[in-house]
Amino acid sequence: MTLHVPFDNSYGKLPDRFFTRVAPTPVAEPSLIALNAALAKELGLDAEALRSNEGVAALAGNAVPDGADPLAQVYAGHQFGGWNPQLGDGRAILLGEVIDSKGVRRDLQLKGSGPTPYSRRGDGRAWLGPVLREYVVSEAMHALGIPTTRALAAVATGEPVIRERQLPGAVLTRVASSHIRVGTFQYFAARNDIDAIRKLMDYVIERHYPGIDGPLGMLDALVERQAHLVAQWMGVGFIHGVMNTDNTHVAGETIDYGPCAFMDAYHPGKVFSSIDHMGRYAYGRQPEIAIWNLAQLATALLPVIDEDTNIAVDKATEVVNRFPDLYAAAWLRVFRGKLGLSGEEEADANLIARLLTHMAEAGMDFTNSFRALTDDADGFLSTNPVLAEWAAEWSARLDRDGADPATQKALMRRANPAVIPRNHRVEEMISAAVEGNYAPFFKLNDVLYRPFDLAPDNSDFAAPPRPEQEVRRTFCGT
Ligand code: AMP
Ligand code: MG
Repeated sequence: MTLHVPFDNSYGKLPDRFFTRVAPTPVAEPSLIALNAALAKELGLDAEALRSNEGVAALAGNAVPDGADPLAQVYAGHQFGGWNPQLGDGRAILLGEVIDSKGVRRDLQLKGSGPTPYSRRGDGRAWLGPVLREYVVSEAMHALGIPTTRALAAVATGEPVIRERQLPGAVLTRVASSHIRVGTFQYFAARNDIDAIRKLMDYVIERHYPGIDGPLGMLDALVERQAHLVAQWMGVGFIHGVMNTDNTHVAGETIDYGPCAFMDAYHPGKVFSSIDHMGRYAYGRQPEIAIWNLAQLATALLPVIDEDTNIAVDKATEVVNRFPDLYAAAWLRVFRGKLGLSGEEEADANLIARLLTHMAEAGMDFTNSFRALTDDADGFLSTNPVLAEWAAEWSARLDRDGADPATQKALMRRANPAVIPRNHRVEEMISAAVEGNYAPFFKLNDVLYRPFDLAPDNSDFAAPPRPEQEVRRTFCGT
């Protein structure tokens, strides 16, 4: 079986200063952990060929498949608000692009594939834990219907990587509609390379926003996508954890699953990342951080918006300022769905907010509370008597919608997952994998592919952690 990847590469045709051509570094003993056959098919790739020795060699970076044009992209970024003028792919290599079955151009990228000129002091490698976390969580995100990068494969390298201790190494094959970040624009803006900003903008528009006109049109389209994206995160209790501008995708995909996590008990101030001491990227702050990141993109685009900086600032500000209303509308749409509301009433935001306030005060499980309101509202409300008044208002509000209860339930069932990648499950899966047992990885993945319907024998995947299982901190994916 020979591997044939129908590469159709475009990023490598951009000027040399956009990237460095670099091949992946081979690993000692590659072995396939997981291959996402459904995604392979979507990409027009033969899953069997990817599983063959030749395929695994390609997924490990031990062989460069025909037609690939391996390169590391350069970018800059604000990390936790602090400016870093040069980051770039320090442990990731873009193999090339393929056109998927829907005609969409997708990147194939190896993550953990060895050093690049942008590795700084890093080893260019990833250990098994973050690779499997990204695999599981990004695929779960996709199953939840939220725009995200995908995971095509995970390969064990047979080599140790040194972190706090020695850990098994792995390579993730990541698929994305592109790997262009707000930080990619910032990189060129910081160098006052207006020609590059323009070329990158033209490329982004052609690839992600065909038909859209100029920098303001592109910015406007991204403002809208980010507003929707963050609203969707909020609706499933997702905390990205490192919303740096280099982790902010220019087409609004969720990218760079580092210390990310889904909340168990609801609290807007919830933070998981071990390095987020100030709570900059707390659950409830994600919308304002998204605006901040969009403002950084706007700043990078100023020179191509207008020669007169004041005029450019005014125009860009106007566009970025659309975010709050777009976000509020998207958030309402998400949470109305979670409460089974199809119509729109002025007081809906308040109705939702009061429920959330109560959930925060009582430390209630976010996912399971909404799911209980979906599956057994009476039972749930009877155990939460403080919600009696709220429940009466909700019920009256549902009546005013006039939809039949079955339709309302169906709406709620599509908006309220029964199962999310809970941290304790993810950590348990990683611990088992480090011991060579991948069964929990496959099981978790399998359950998360159908997040809205939970088979009775999988009900423990819906359970919140017991106190001793609770994960309070997640670590960056290095
Ligand atoms: P991240 O926190 O994963 O978004 O990474 C931030 C920057 O650090 C990116 O430029 C990464 O490519 C780089 N980086 C992270 N881990 C490593 C590593 N082990 N070796 C080299 N570069 C790394
Ligand atoms: Mg990153």
